[in-house]
Amino acid sequence: MDNILLVEDSKSLALLLKNSLEATLPCTVHWADGLAKTKALVANPELTFSVGILDINLPDAPRGEVVDFVLSRGIPSIVFAGEFSTDLQKSLWSRTIIDYVLKEDPNNIGYLVGLVRRVMANRNIKVLVADDSKASRLELTNLLTIHQYQVFAAADGQEALDLLGEHPDIRLLLTDHYMPRVNGLELVKRIRHSHPKDELAIVALSATDASTLPAQFIKGGANDFLKKPYTTEEFYCRITQNIELLEQIARIKEHAHLDFLTNLHNRRYFFDLGRKLVASARRGHIELTLALFDIDHFKRINDTFGHDTGDLVLKNLAHFLRKRFRETDIVCRYGGEEFCILATNMSRDHAATLFDDLRRRIAATPVVIGEREITFTVSIGVCAAPKGSLEEMIQQADVLLYQAKQNGRNRIALR
Ligand code: GH3
Ligand code: MG
Ligand code: MG
Repeated sequence: MDNILLVEDSKSLALLLKNSLEATLPCTVHWADGLAKTKALVANPELTFSVGILDINLPDAPRGEVVDFVLSRGIPSIVFAGEFSTDLQKSLWSRTIIDYVLKEDPNNIGYLVGLVRRVMANRNIKVLVADDSKASRLELTNLLTIHQYQVFAAADGQEALDLLGEHPDIRLLLTDHYMPRVNGLELVKRIRHSHPKDELAIVALSATDASTLPAQFIKGGANDFLKKPYTTEEFYCRITQNIELLEQIARIKEHAHLDFLTNLHNRRYFFDLGRKLVASARRGHIELTLALFDIDHFKRINDTFGHDTGDLVLKNLAHFLRKRFRETDIVCRYGGEEFCILATNMSRDHAATLFDDLRRRIAATPVVIGEREITFTVSIGVCAAPKGSLEEMIQQADVLLYQAKQNGRNRIALR
């Protein structure tokens, strides 16, 4: 749980902010109405603040004294104020704040909460800085640290490649162009052989006047180019934008792999990963079992109780199956009322016991929907040894499933 320091003299605004933050983020907001209370909170040895939200105009500190005080205690802070003159903005940025937010606009409460969420999420994001100038490296590292990223620094392109090798989960690279050994452009090109644009964002930075360099960088695989000198505000806007783009793409990819109704993996994901697993099994690395489940007489459930109840039965079964298998096994919704499981390292004997046990439990556990209890059964076809391809395994499981249905349903057929 994070502790957030909120300094604001208006009680109603402070409460609004506290409620919004605590409702959306795992945090406790500690409120101070002025500098004196702020000093008392910061002096409390039991509290460590991860972010400060600071009003600059307070009855006992009318000229931003609270900002100097809180920053001097090493608490990265957002300034929240009624107005910002250009001079004030400049002086705030020179004191290295996270950002500033205007009070007036009610939409800004949402922006502020989003900003705190961003900064908290940044702690899990690794960023690499490559620059041969020690001063630049230090400056970039400082700026990124204020936004709470985990920062790694390299003095040239080769060092950057080495660090990327050690930390393949680095999500963002900021690179200078002119560096010894491997320059920025060369670095970008090499990285792109192994790290696609939607998994590792690259922002190139250079003071060069060569007008072709930005385009060369983008064509070489950089996501963005920032010309030096840049303002701190622009720097943060670009970094945040690039990180959020990666997150959006990751979310879309995740949804593309899921079935809408049951939240299980979908058929596309099953085929993508399943083919890789079969290839690996063929090389003798793992055992593989593929099972096709089909609900018996599901049409009757729909006809008797309605389609919505049918949906709930499907969701229930999906949840039940997901719980029974390991993270590494694929449990997918194969089609309407058919589910497919691809389990690794499961012996044939174990598969026979496990799937028959599952079948029995499903038949014995009615789904409770409102006042109703709905009992249903499944038939299962199990292909318990890897074959030449995923498609062959599915085909065999399908033939076996057909046999199980022919032989009276509520049973498994395994080969
Ligand atoms: P069998 O024992 O031979 O498998 O009989 P069955 O009735 O289960 O099989 P059939 O293939 O005849 O019917 C499957 C039914 O599943 C028909 C279809 O309307 C229903 N279904 C498919 N997808 C969904 C869904 O997403 N929600 C609901 N409620 N029903 C679905
Ligand atoms: Mg069916
Ligand atoms: Mg069916």
